[in-house]
Amino acid sequence: MTQKASMRTIPPEIALLPKVSLHDHLDGGVRLATLADIASAKGLPAPTTLRPSGRSLVEYLKPFSHVTSLVTSPDLLARITREALDDLEADNVVYAELRFAPLLHVSPDPDALDAAIAAVLDEMRAHQVTSRLIVCHLRGTEHDELAASGALRFAGRGVVGFDLAGDESISPHAHAKAIRTAHEGLALTLHAGEALGPDSIRESLSYSPERLGHGVRIIEAKSAEPALYKATSTRHLEVCPSSNIHTGVVSHLDHHPVHTLLDDGFSLSINTDNRTMSNTTLSNEISLLATADISLSMLADLQDAAARAAFDRAAAQAALASARSV
Ligand SMILES: [Zn+2]
Repeated sequence: MTQKASMRTIPPEIALLPKVSLHDHLDGGVRLATLADIASAKGLPAPTTLRPSGRSLVEYLKPFSHVTSLVTSPDLLARITREALDDLEADNVVYAELRFAPLLHVSPDPDALDAAIAAVLDEMRAHQVTSRLIVCHLRGTEHDELAASGALRFAGRGVVGFDLAGDESISPHAHAKAIRTAHEGLALTLHAGEALGPDSIRESLSYSPERLGHGVRIIEAKSAEPALYKATSTRHLEVCPSSNIHTGVVSHLDHHPVHTLLDDGFSLSINTDNRTMSNTTLSNEISLLATADISLSMLADLQDAAARAAFDRAAAQAALASARSV
């Protein structure tokens, strides 16, 4: 990879490739024009950019408050869900797992939580793109068990997973009970190995997550802790190349470990993380990886790997097969 993490011209064969997206935050993909609309209706100033000003996870997370302070009702959550799916459809994403932390948008009571999740799920069901929902909780914030129990109430009705997002310096152990509650009826993915290294991955693996959000800093354990490296290779990694640049995980895509991880047999998918904050699309992320030594069939294989790791595997594989048959 020699490209910088930025939007580049997308080769048509990648734009047309049917794609599976597993790691896409609803609040990180909101359209700026939509935020301007919402701000105008509320008589509030609109943010002119959501791009982070520094290269660390903490800096990267700051613009999210512009979104969560404006998108504060089920109706507005429905709107950003519909628009996200429209944007994914235009990018030939055929199966998407979107995620959001409802308690960043609505008050912490079960009725408000249920209304927020239900509004998002209604839009997902109505849309042409097959999609499922992962409920997140933000590390270091209260009401984690409320979020977990709310997510569980929608198990089998569109919510397929639970995730811990936010400042990785806060250990998942701070939310141990909520994680275990959610994992009783939902799949689990935990952000780890992004801002922090192998120790954060070891902590997360103690909850037996099916997937890790990012996880790419496991590369630091390749020589130093081969047992941890091997254990992590049994989990699926949701890799988000541009986001890794913007949070300072790697300085340049040339230094990204994705090729080494693939060579070492890791199951991984390519994802956007936050389409607006990182100014990207899934086709763009895939294009960043598409060098001479990665063929189109390898990129298609990565979509199969993503579908196998989807929390609704049957739906993802069906959506991919259907798109390929036309
Ligand atoms: Zn993320």
